[in-house]
Amino acid sequence: MKDFSEIKTRLRIRQQELMQRIAQISAQVRHEDTPLPSDFEDQATERENEEVMDALGSAARRELDQINRTLQHIDDGDYGACRDCGREINAARLEALPFASRCIECADRAES
Ligand SMILES: [Zn+2]
Repeated sequence: MKDFSEIKTRLRIRQQELMQRIAQISAQVRHEDTPLPSDFEDQATERENEEVMDALGSAARRELDQINRTLQHIDDGDYGACRDCGREINAARLEALPFASRCIECADRAES
């Protein structure tokens, strides 16, 4: 089995960042820090902010999901194999795209 410890470390760091960000976002959305403004206009702005924060939150959650799955694959020992042809995915490709699940040939074929 190949050594993916470098990718794993990178993913763990990113995982921590994302979990912190998600915690911050949900704290803000729940108004734990700031009370809801009484002014109507401010409330509208506040709601818009919440929508933006929600979008940011779901993007962060999606990335976190991907990271969790990838870390699981590494632990299971099936990381780095192309899901179409089963060959090893090039190390440089994984370095650049840690979530890649196909080798470059199969990815090209899937896109065209
Ligand atoms: Zn392939």
